[in-house]
Amino acid sequence: MLKLKRIYDPPAQLDGYRVLVDRLWPRGLSKSKARVDFWMKEIGPTDALRKWFGHDPRRWTAFRARYWRELRGNSRLILQLKQIIKERRTVTLLFGARDEEHNQAVALQAFLQRRRGSSHRKSRDPPMTGPIDRRFAQLRDTIVACRKCPRLVEYREEVARTKRRAYREWTYWGRPVPSFGDPHAKLLIIGLAPAAHGANRTGRMFTGDRSGDFLYGQLHRAGFANQASSRDANDGLALHDAYISAAVRCAPPDNKPLPAEILNCSGYLEEELDLLQPRVILALGAIAFDTYLRLLVRRGAIASRAPYTFSHGAECKLPRPLPLLFASYHPSQQNTQTGRLTPAMFHGVLRRIQRALAVSE
Ligand code: SF4
Repeated sequence: MLKLKRIYDPPAQLDGYRVLVDRLWPRGLSKSKARVDFWMKEIGPTDALRKWFGHDPRRWTAFRARYWRELRGNSRLILQLKQIIKERRTVTLLFGARDEEHNQAVALQAFLQRRRGSSHRKSRDPPMTGPIDRRFAQLRDTIVACRKCPRLVEYREEVARTKRRAYREWTYWGRPVPSFGDPHAKLLIIGLAPAAHGANRTGRMFTGDRSGDFLYGQLHRAGFANQASSRDANDGLALHDAYISAAVRCAPPDNKPLPAEILNCSGYLEEELDLLQPRVILALGAIAFDTYLRLLVRRGAIASRAPYTFSHGAECKLPRPLPLLFASYHPSQQNTQTGRLTPAMFHGVLRRIQRALAVSE
């Protein structure tokens, strides 16, 4: 996982291994205060390029292109950095610039992601045994074994023991529900949480309840799913170019996760974002929308979530290279049965997403 952060912001445990990528040591900082694990100063832009750029946003595109050319000629350092990322798993690239969007760490991150993206596109087709698939499988195992949120662990297991009368023959899943879909998808859908007698029973996202009937019906209509129904985890449903995750993976009481539980779980969403590198995100409901934006703020990818307002059909252009963010009302029964969210409304959002994906090809 590759994060970005201004070196002046306080170090956090979630930063993992902290690599400073400035050519110059940022002013006014001591090494002990900055808690830098490694200073990779030669990876910064050359002095001439750095001075020419001067963090002027009008020169950003040209700067990025020139800096990438320099990075291509610097394969030893790129390999070294990739090795660190591989070994340390969570690495934060630290930069000194005030500007959160236009600095060499942002350009470097895009460079690394682009390289990973192009090698990943070459191997988009099955068999599903590539490194990305293995990392998804590892993440899935970690999620399924997770017990970080005591309240949710107790609730999901209690629901699985007591069951609903209609499902008394079922062995409930009763564990965290892993994400589901195409590991090479360009569209990432973020839901809220598993339903107590839906995904918490079947073990697959949006499976076995009315929300799932609505969602998969619409995904099928738009060509993202091979069938419209989702009864159980072995019903043959497969997604194409779409991947479904959630703000939390354990069923919460009253469908209301606590902020600390969302925070606990968003590390998994972060890992999925890094593995998937989607081009479009669809947030189902205000909590998913907020969860994603807060994650970006924590990662230093945006300065604040304030400029982005949730509404059905909202489309947010976040700073590059972040994916386009769409929002929809959550397909909960409460919304779909009251007409707050209709099939036509949801289909309209999916059509716009398809157009955005086509343009980004
Ligand atoms: S909600 Fe997420 S972090 Fe909390 S126990 Fe479930 S899987 Fe773990």
